[in-house]
Amino acid sequence: MGKLVIVGTVAFDAIETPFGKTDKILGGAATFIGLSASHFNVDAAAVSVVGGDFPQEYLDLLSNKNIDISGIEIVKEGKTFFWSGRYHNDMNSRDTLVTELNTLADFNPVVPQEHRNAEVVMLGNLHPIVQLSVLEQMEEKPKLVILDTMNFWMDCALDDLHKVIKKIDVITINDEEARQLTGEYSLLVAARKIHEMGPKYVVIKKGEHGALLFNNDNVFYAPALPLEEVFDPTGAGDTFAGGFAGYIAKTGDTSFENMKNAVIYGSTLASFCVEKFGTERMQNLTEGEVHKRLLQFKQLTQFEIELA
Ligand code: AMP
Repeated sequence: MGKLVIVGTVAFDAIETPFGKTDKILGGAATFIGLSASHFNVDAAAVSVVGGDFPQEYLDLLSNKNIDISGIEIVKEGKTFFWSGRYHNDMNSRDTLVTELNTLADFNPVVPQEHRNAEVVMLGNLHPIVQLSVLEQMEEKPKLVILDTMNFWMDCALDDLHKVIKKIDVITINDEEARQLTGEYSLLVAARKIHEMGPKYVVIKKGEHGALLFNNDNVFYAPALPLEEVFDPTGAGDTFAGGFAGYIAKTGDTSFENMKNAVIYGSTLASFCVEKFGTERMQNLTEGEVHKRLLQFKQLTQFEIELA
């Protein structure tokens, strides 16, 4: 069984979409990544921090999915990271209303000893210094290090972000963020510039328009599955990353060809995430449902064409 280390926020989110509004519910990058990666039966450990206000039942939810939560520090007197966002009518763009770092502000991550030899490390969205510290704790160079980040860290910790980007193999980033990071509008040019920063593989997520995987001149595109119901896109990017990382950890194959499948798994899992608010849809998602949707995905994208 492949080992996977997941780093990221475990959080409270309050979300507004054209379909409704939530109070503080379970969220966070590591939460969505963990729920998604749990579909691959990998030996996963989450590294994060929460406050004394974080309900035990949320932690139980993760450990019931076989995620080692010993690396989630609980700061009893502190408050959990809180994020609030409002989606526009197109559901593809959103405004951040509140980001309260709380316990995340001075978090020193500790990777559980048994996971310091993990083959795959998924550096989910949080402070790049924390991401860097996790990498430094690995006993040997992992087979694959994947990084996800967002505009917030580009705005407030760009130099540190560049330091960590230099050390990773795959970056997953959305189109808007790729443009912000590189100052380029064309995603092809942006991907080339990101390659020059370090990562050999660049995944650009385009929300309901799918995802692109770049490895220099090799490009692969996976559409997003057209869905009848999209309630809340929060966590879709993390769910994608969790599926991608989980599939690579399970197969142990880091070739470009296998990464194409990882993109398909990531997209398939993300298609469920958006159907309900927060983590609700991911909590009880069955293997049968995933399998059925993978078949739909295959049918949607397969065609035969005779070329002279
Ligand atoms: P996504 O929709 O995939 O970009 O991820 C949304 C999740 O990211 C939410 O559950 C938030 O709790 C979390 N989040 C929002 N802002 C940040 C931030 N600045 N750093 C880390 N995680 C964040």
